[in-house]
Formats: sequence, structure tokens, C-alpha cells
Amino acid sequence: MDQQPDIREIHFSEEPSISGSVPGPNAKRLLERQEDVEASTVAYPKSVPFAPAEAKGTTVRDVDGNTFLDFFSGMSVLNVGHSNPYVLEGVEAQLGDLTHTLDFPTEARLDLIDKLNEIAPGDLAGNATAMFGGPTGSDAIEASIKLAKHITGGDELIAFRGSYHGGTAGALSLTAGRQFKNDVAPLLADVTHVPFPHPTRKPAPGTASEAAEICPVEGPCCEDSRCALALENVHELLSDSYSGISDPAGIWIEPIQATGGIVTPPPGFLSGLKELCVEHEIPLIVDEIQTGMGRTGEWWASDVYDVTPDIMPVSKSISGVGLPLSLTVYDESYDTWGPGSHGGTFRGNVPAMVGGIRAIEYIQDQDLLPRARRLESTIQSRLENLADRTDEIVDVRGEGLMWAAEFAPAADGISGGDRVSEIQQTAFENGVLVWSAGRDGAALRLMPPLVVTEHQLETGLDIVESAVLSNVN
Ligand code: PLP
Repeated sequence: MDQQPDIREIHFSEEPSISGSVPGPNAKRLLERQEDVEASTVAYPKSVPFAPAEAKGTTVRDVDGNTFLDFFSGMSVLNVGHSNPYVLEGVEAQLGDLTHTLDFPTEARLDLIDKLNEIAPGDLAGNATAMFGGPTGSDAIEASIKLAKHITGGDELIAFRGSYHGGTAGALSLTAGRQFKNDVAPLLADVTHVPFPHPTRKPAPGTASEAAEICPVEGPCCEDSRCALALENVHELLSDSYSGISDPAGIWIEPIQATGGIVTPPPGFLSGLKELCVEHEIPLIVDEIQTGMGRTGEWWASDVYDVTPDIMPVSKSISGVGLPLSLTVYDESYDTWGPGSHGGTFRGNVPAMVGGIRAIEYIQDQDLLPRARRLESTIQSRLENLADRTDEIVDVRGEGLMWAAEFAPAADGISGGDRVSEIQQTAFENGVLVWSAGRDGAALRLMPPLVVTEHQLETGLDIVESAVLSNVN
């Protein structure tokens, strides 16, 4: 098929270029107009006053002609870069032929399922089926709740503190952040949130050998006491008939808590959790919506932690170009329900499906997974070096091209979240778009696309580093 351009050829430039101050006059006009006409739910421009006009690869131009390096990739939606020409070519051709098909078969639909079956993590590869529903990540989570309840007959949903699974009623019930749900509770009744082994919250007591004693799973212990305690918590919840829960339907987990602050789990945590799920005959639902499609340097974060999900909701980067598409990939042995058990009008978007196939091909043919692993060491060492130069950074963590530096409150009382906002603003003024995450927004989140060039990465990190050091309080 058509030629794939090299990753060095798909950007506006290698470096950002900003003339004058940002936002410029055209951006200001659009931001003011948005304030007038659109609902007050708009959130992103409140953090960064940005008005995009066009985008290519890692670069985005605003309406005043300034060029930025995008280091959050539309929140991990644009893993193969903005407007990837190879992906776009297929999508544009498909748009002219056929767009909407409900769930009638098309080559693109079935080829995408085949591709996902091929690259699915662990034992799911070759044994997966997939269902489309509504086009968002939250829709895929809703679908996973229905499926888990269907296959187990259980009601209780188990999720983790710090998690974000979406904004619709079921997904929001699994989401942990109170700020997202306060005004709309009550949601689903039977949801229990258990502690995630977070590296900077509540140090867990105990030595490595004590951890091994606490750890409830049979497999080898990773000797991390946070991990052992968190697993023991889940074990008790499932095993003790007085733990307070009804029959469980499944355990939902982000393999790396993304919105929660790019919180990476200890090495044995996910496989330990899977072992508990097997023991209690409930599915492990691994939400790969933000971590999937190569973001971690593997196709799925499940591959990083060597775990096989039973059910895997996928969205965000799946269509390659940012067309909305989601699906729930699951073990075909669970496919015991009938026609219409799960539906949705927009589950036949053929251009998005073509985009998904082409994005997978591009990642494969351009070797973007090993490349992300190579670039990971650049981000990690640059952030760790920065942490050595300021006490404000209390933790650096991530995988592949998904990283965070967590900020502690400063001595003068400024919160970690306020520091990250200042840094985000300074980076923006100098041409790099970065985001925040975590409790109170205290984690500086860096997620450049997999197609970021070495030069763009170093340049962007230089700007982030200056933003951190110039703002040291
Ligand atoms: N799950 C995870 C891990 C997410 O990061 C998100 C969105 O950020 C969702 C689910 C919900 O996806 P959407 O916003 O498309 O509904």
C-alpha cells in the first residue's frame, strides 16, 4: 500500500517558535468568544490559554502562527502524532466511500478486530473478541461493567483509589476523585475503592521479607510492602464473608494510574491481582484507554507488567487521528451473550477503524515501540537529574513516553499543584504544551507522541527544565 513517511518528515518543525506573547490577538479573541458562547464546563483552556489552528506530528500551530511542541498528545490520543499522513490518507479515502454502518460488517471493522487480536497482551492474543459501543472511553468502561456483571452474575465493582475511568454514571462510579462525582452522587451503589500502592503516599511499614509474609498470592513476591498490603486488602475483601461486599463482578484497574499522576505499580502488583481474580473467578478489567497503543513502549501497559486482562477497554489513540472510537476487547470464552446485549448508534465509524489499522501498521513498520523504550531513558534521566537540582520534585516515574515529576508543597506554602500550574504556563509561553495530573494537580505530566524526534524531545525537555528552575521558589 501507500508509502509511510519517516517520523522525521511529519512535523512542522524541530523546534517551537513563538512570536511575542501568548496568547496572541487571534487566540485571545477565540478564547473570549468561547467564554461567551460555550458552557462553563470548558476546562482545558483554563489551564493553558491556547487556540489551535493546525497540527502535524509533535507540532501544533495556534491561530496566531506560533508553533508549539505538544508534550501531552491530546491526552494520549495522538500517539502517532497529529495528522499522521499515512493514517490520514486512509481515513480521507474512506470518508468519501462509507462512513457510518451501525454494526454491519466492513473489511475495516473486521481487520481492526483481527489486528487487535494479534497485538493483544499476554494470553488474550489470539483468543480475543471485541465489541464496539459508543465512541468514548467512558462508553467502553460502561460496556465492561455490563459484561462483567453478565459473566459473573455478581454486582459489586471493585476499583482503586486514585483511579479515573470516565465521566458517565457507571464509569464515574469507578472513578475515585471526589471532585468529579460530588454533585451527582449517588451513582452505582455497589462499588468499593481499595488502596492502590502509591509510591509517595503513606509509606508502608515492613522489610522485604515481611512483605513476602503479608503478600497473599502464591507467585513470587516482588518484596514491596506497599504492593503486599494492597494485595492483602483485596484478598481480604474477596475472601472474608464479613468484608461488607456483595458478590463481586470484577476488579477494574488502570495499569498505570494516568489522571491520578502517572502512578506506576510495583512490579508484582498486577500479576498478583490477576492471581486473586483467578482464585475468586472474577474478571480483571484492565483499563488501557490512556496507557494503550504503544504509549508505554509496549502495545499495552499490561505487557509491561506481564498480566493478561480478561476484559480490556480501549479508546483514545485507537483511531490514530483522534476520531472518536472505542471498543472493549475481551476473552472470547466470555462471549456468551446475545445480539443487542450491548449496542450504540456510533459503533460503525469506518474511517476511524481504517485509522486504527493504519496507526497499528505505522507503529509496527516504524518500530515505534522499541524507539519509545529508547527515548524513555532520555526523559527519565533528564527528570531525575532535575529532581537532583530541586527538592520540590519528590518522585519521578513512568514508562515509555508517559512520565510524571511529582511536586511537593514549597516552603513558602505554595502547593505542588500551583507550582505545576506555574511551570505549565512558563513552558507554554516558551512553546511546549505539558499537562498536570495527580492529587491536586501536583504531578507534571509529559506524554509526547511516539513520533517525537530526539531533537524535539531534548528541546522540549530543555524548556521544561528552565520552566522548573526559573520558577524555583
Ligand atoms: N479511562 C481512562 C484511563 C482515562 O484516562 C479516561 C479519560 O481520560 C477514560 C477512561 C474516559 O475516557 P473518555 O474521556 O473518552 O470518556
